[in-house]
Amino acid sequence: STATLIEKEDTHNITFDDVAGLDEAELEVKEIVDFLKNPGTFTRLGAKIPKGVMLVGPPGTGKTLLARAVAGEAQVPFFTISGSEFVEMFVGVGASRVRDLFKNAKEKAPCIIFIDEIDAIGRSRSRNAFFTGANDERESTLNQLLTEMDGFETNAGVIVLAATNRADMLDPALLRPGRFDRHIYLELPNLKEREAIFTVHMRPLVLDKTVDKHFLAAQTPGFSGADIANICNEAALIAARGKKAQIGTTDFLEAIDRIVAGLEKKSKIISLQE
Ligand code: ATP
Repeated sequence: STATLIEKEDTHNITFDDVAGLDEAELEVKEIVDFLKNPGTFTRLGAKIPKGVMLVGPPGTGKTLLARAVAGEAQVPFFTISGSEFVEMFVGVGASRVRDLFKNAKEKAPCIIFIDEIDAIGRSRSRNAFFTGANDERESTLNQLLTEMDGFETNAGVIVLAATNRADMLDPALLRPGRFDRHIYLELPNLKEREAIFTVHMRPLVLDKTVDKHFLAAQTPGFSGADIANICNEAALIAARGKKAQIGTTDFLEAIDRIVAGLEKKSKIISLQE
């Protein structure tokens, strides 16, 4: 809903402890945390703090989570806005939302602005010439975003993080120096990383002794962090429905089955649409 378009979230309880299997990406965003915490250390030497950082990776790999963790680690406000919601708006509304967002953020600096699904507004302008109405809106929103990015000082203490699954689709204007000129890539987790993600999501769960993270990680190749979070919650629901005192391996296997069935259904729908 549009009411949640610009949201200031409380991320103070989200930290790097909640993020697993993204060591390299974490290392890169740690620098942003340092900028936000101690800007003087950098500006004293004449260093320019980046304004925009693009998080690139498949759905569910933790882009939003990582952005929230940056705000949580730095203890700064977190403003979010989702690109896909602009497409449904009347012409001019998107641009004014972007203006409001940056105005709010600058008042609360140091802070993070997070733009999810930036591809929805930042898609290459030559494409999608069919939907002219939606395109006008997209273009005015994108232009406003570019204006805002160029408008604030490099060291104003506002860092804009954006997420996309498709960096190749983005308007090159977004990627120019001083805008989103830094890219951080997130990949689907490998075996070891999936095990680490299971560890994070099993923390609050009551498990029996049969549960083996390594085994479950081996059963879930190609799964994203979001899929694994889903499995853990689904397993807990299954065990609860069965009135069990603890969650066991069979609950996890049933949960994996369900998630796989859901993923298959989704990919069928996607292939029907194409
Ligand atoms: P999308 O592109 O679909 O918006 P995303 O990359 O932003 O996805 P998130 O929304 O961050 O993915 O992930 C959804 C949820 O999945 C997180 O809130 C978290 O519970 C879990 N998750 C995803 N990746 C990880 C990870 N690396 N470590 C721990 N949990 C993860």
